[in-house]
Amino acid sequence: MKIRVLGAFGGEGLGHRPSSFLINDRVLIDGGSVTGALTVPEQLRIEHALVSHAHLDHIAGLVYLTETLGFCETGAAVTIASIDPVVTTLRAGVFNNVLWPDFSRIPHADVPVVKYRTLVEDVEQRLGDLWVTPVQVQHTVPTAGFIVHDGSTGLIYSGDTGPTAALWAAARGLHGLRAVILECAFPNRLAQLADIAKHMTPDLIRRELDKLPPDLPVWIFHVKPQFHEEVAEELERSGGDRVQLLEQDRTYSL
Ligand SMILES: [Zn+2]
Ligand SMILES: [Zn+2]
Repeated sequence: MKIRVLGAFGGEGLGHRPSSFLINDRVLIDGGSVTGALTVPEQLRIEHALVSHAHLDHIAGLVYLTETLGFCETGAAVTIASIDPVVTTLRAGVFNNVLWPDFSRIPHADVPVVKYRTLVEDVEQRLGDLWVTPVQVQHTVPTAGFIVHDGSTGLIYSGDTGPTAALWAAARGLHGLRAVILECAFPNRLAQLADIAKHMTPDLIRRELDKLPPDLPVWIFHVKPQFHEEVAEELERSGGDRVQLLEQDRTYSL
């Protein structure tokens, strides 16, 4: 499995793009930044967008992707997939002909550039060439983490979450897991804010490690750009060799 980091951050800054990952060139996991990280031919190869939740730092790139698809006239289309409350929010709150055009009816209702797929929670299901299990995590709005597997290797993607249990429990015993992609938003001194906003700090991540299989590497994304150096130092002190920050624009192989 190939994982290209289109955006590694929990916000936008100079050289910092919001969270988005491209699996095997075809499947997005979150779409905080897409068109700013990919050429047009690369955008046209995307078939699915797996969305953890509807916060803008995870979906802003999807609106520009749909515009690329809408203008290209190649028949390319993307299926936006998530749990029911996330799909409902995207349809009603984003692609609603007010905030952004309803690309599920463009260029025609019978051949649109956006399709939606509601995933069943806690059940493994086929998405393109992958197997995906969505599991709700602990955030301020309905949010799914995902277990993504290609039949031989897999990863756990946390979405945005504070301390959680169901996602780790769902992945327990699964063969071929090679990494956890885990969010961290704030440094330890903002623990109170992390608690309210339901995000991780390096201290909270250290406690999550005990819930995970001991050998599984933990790859961190979603640090807010203004806290990047501070969080990196704290993670290095508390996470050891097992925890590393994901690098934007790098491709990782499992
Ligand atoms: Zn976020
Ligand atoms: Zn969020």
